[in-house]
Amino acid sequence: SAGSSGADDGGFYFNSKLAAIKHSDRLKAYLPLAHRAGIRVIVYVNVHWYSKDFGSRHPDWLQKRHDGSPVDTVYSTGVSFCINSSYREWVFQLLKELCAYPIDGIFYDGPIFFSDSCYCDSCVHEFQKRTGKNPPQKSDKNHPLWKEFISFQIDSYERFLKESNEIIKSIRQDILFYINGNSHWPNWPTGRDNHRIIKHTDILGAEGGFLYGDLNQTPVYKPGMTGKLLVSQARGKPAIVFDTGEHRSWNWFLLPEAEVSILLAETLSSGANYWYACFAPNINQPELDVVKRYNLLIKKNPDAFFQTKSLANVALVWPGRSAETYLSSVPFTDFTREIKDEEIGDVHQEFAGWYEVLARSQVPFDVIDEEGFDNLSQYQMIVLPNAACLSAEDTRALKEFVAEGGTLVSDFETSLYDEQGNKRDDFALAEIIGAHFSGHKFGPMMWDYIIPQHGKHLLSGIIKRYLPATRYGIEVSTGTADVLFFFAERMAGCYDHLPEISREPFLLVNRYKKGTS
Ligand SMILES: [Zn+2]
Repeated sequence: SAGSSGADDGGFYFNSKLAAIKHSDRLKAYLPLAHRAGIRVIVYVNVHWYSKDFGSRHPDWLQKRHDGSPVDTVYSTGVSFCINSSYREWVFQLLKELCAYPIDGIFYDGPIFFSDSCYCDSCVHEFQKRTGKNPPQKSDKNHPLWKEFISFQIDSYERFLKESNEIIKSIRQDILFYINGNSHWPNWPTGRDNHRIIKHTDILGAEGGFLYGDLNQTPVYKPGMTGKLLVSQARGKPAIVFDTGEHRSWNWFLLPEAEVSILLAETLSSGANYWYACFAPNINQPELDVVKRYNLLIKKNPDAFFQTKSLANVALVWPGRSAETYLSSVPFTDFTREIKDEEIGDVHQEFAGWYEVLARSQVPFDVIDEEGFDNLSQYQMIVLPNAACLSAEDTRALKEFVAEGGTLVSDFETSLYDEQGNKRDDFALAEIIGAHFSGHKFGPMMWDYIIPQHGKHLLSGIIKRYLPATRYGIEVSTGTADVLFFFAERMAGCYDHLPEISREPFLLVNRYKKGTS
């Protein structure tokens, strides 16, 4: 409504007893026109961003920070309501009213918790009921109740979706329901866990094709990363990557046509479907012709795009467990500097790096997370990008995979922590890797090298003596593994001297039963 930023109850163009202002029923007029033209209508419901004015009329619905202040900076301008408050009943009423129309679906944009919320009375009360204690700060990851609080938010989220879906399906079974889900990002800031979401929705979708800021810093593969992960998490239901035309955060400015084309091509080739959005001022701009061209391509070649099945025999793992709980703290050996924990072993960057290695090598591959470990037999190779936190069950599945002849690629602290983030004495996969953790990580290495063992079968074609080292390393004692690369002796500066080979292994190959690591 006029003078406010964010949704409220003043702009309903359908019949609702919640409407503060009565408007004409445009939904009723629009639906038969759309259906006659073969357009299915899925109604967008904003459940994450409301005007401050509307918030001031419902103070008990507001999401709150730990200090009791309301979350009032959504897109810098609005508030957000809490699904554990009686706001949920307001949303459910809205759902019932919308589903009374012959609509084809409901799309929830949100809801989400924020990285510093929610501590509203309802959440505090519910958490006290569950634990007898007050909720900890979400920023305090070492707090003994931190994981319990995250679980509480994920459970709250699932309960809200379950009830929403039950209401929708009780009105009409064929009304689709889906939401704005998560991708290759941690679940803890928002409470969104795709494995829980997909139990109560018909489509799994996430914003893999939203591009922000400096595009040179955004992997060109971003929509594909999302698409491949969603396809495996959706377990047979449709997966959708949300692509948008605008170059964010300039939401009224379109990306060039080539960028839009990349978004759509990346999405389609990942096995997912695209959902393409742009704002009203841009709807007739020439850049959008590319969307028409892709739509026609799909229409002309439906077999290539509908109900497809991946033939990849390589899987890259999104280390989801590590994304939630892994904190890499490092006692340095030499050249010690103050390094922030999050710079070391960042699983997000590890994943992006391995994704690029496989994509640039033109290896067809799937993306799975640990929930996909129950079905590894279709693969010949699994890549674990610093999958630091793995459960006993995860490692059992991986051991069996290698024992049966599979190839496992893993790096850095893979399997050195359990699924709760507790450090183990040794890699759980030590037997597979053929080496043991000897107690130290080291780095950063700014100008150091690794040195290949020329003559080894796997290194044919590598003729250089010095290759750049990784920024960090991990000390291992070699068991049954063969060393292909060693670190070079560390140098005091980039012109210090030509370094000799050290005894620190960099790259190991190991045979385990019928397979290789
Ligand atoms: Zn709350």
